[in-house]
Amino acid sequence: MTHTIAVIRGDGIGPEIMDATLHVLDAMQLGLNYEFVEAGMSALEKHGNLLPQATLDAIARHRIALKSPLTTPVGGGFASINVELRKRFDLYANVRPAISFPNTKARYADIDIITVRENTEGAYIGEGQQVSADGATATLQQKVTRKGSERIVRYAFDMARRIGRKKVTIVHKANILKSTSGLFLKVAREVAAQYPDIACNEMIVDNTCMQLVMRPEQFDVIVTTNLFGDIVSDLCAGLVGGLGLAPGANIGADAAIFEAVHGSAPDIAGQGIANPCALLLGAAQMLDHLALPGDAARLRKAIRSTLADQDALTPDLGGSGNTMGFARAIATRV
Ligand code: ATP
Repeated sequence: MTHTIAVIRGDGIGPEIMDATLHVLDAMQLGLNYEFVEAGMSALEKHGNLLPQATLDAIARHRIALKSPLTTPVGGGFASINVELRKRFDLYANVRPAISFPNTKARYADIDIITVRENTEGAYIGEGQQVSADGATATLQQKVTRKGSERIVRYAFDMARRIGRKKVTIVHKANILKSTSGLFLKVAREVAAQYPDIACNEMIVDNTCMQLVMRPEQFDVIVTTNLFGDIVSDLCAGLVGGLGLAPGANIGADAAIFEAVHGSAPDIAGQGIANPCALLLGAAQMLDHLALPGDAARLRKAIRSTLADQDALTPDLGGSGNTMGFARAIATRV
């Protein structure tokens, strides 16, 4: 089967890590075709627009995009291009895997957790934020809906089933936030009951943070609301050594965008020394999404073995290699 994906090479180190990632994907011979489109500073320079219509059309057409980091200039018309993409395509699920790899700053050797975070509602979006005229009182509205809760929890269980994960932990604070978190938990229980093949447990968010630090191996897939997911997914990234190896995806019913969580790293751009692993792991997530979990596992295994052998590692990983050399070392292992 062939798939065409929209590819955004991005800004700063973006083109370097994208070339490396496509080199590895090509070596895997998956029949992927690419349509290269632009966003961010490179798009502004060439087309006078940070997010050209042609880019939006390509994402809508192919429904899958692999995206390098983008720079959003101050005063460019958007607070963030990434946030704009999430809104345009209603990308309601933010999916962040955290995996421990050898020869990294991972705190434990056996972490493999995927956080599925609701991306469109809840306290995080800051609806109705205001501070009173005298500066004494700040308020915001927090809205959680049945529809929003149901689709995110369903996404988490469907994903678990598709890629062979065994357990989903519903993370909430329904003991205190009885309306918003209470509705999320109620709906999550209803959805979970429809997936008898996937184990499910519930955990209060503060306990989840403690348990993640003390016994992370008990977690498989976590599903939670927007603000809790924001915090928990970064905690998980910290457990595996920071953002250097952290991929992420934003997924909706009609489109999905896969990326590295880190930024465009302007300080090292153009030097050919950026670590391509986070984007490569984003590509592995994309293969899972395309229902190719065997190929996703093959790619992660090749990354693992390259790190274990300390073959051609980039400077951030303590090596003296370069981006393409590292990619070639991974490509020989896929
Ligand atoms: P942006 O404004 O695009 O978010 P930033 O510099 O504020 O850029 P990052 O791009 O995430 O934030 O970079 C933070 C630090 O991590 C920088 O020192 C950068 O060089 C380093 N870094 C980020 N990504 C990588 C990578 N893939 N390989 C090596 N170093 C990286």
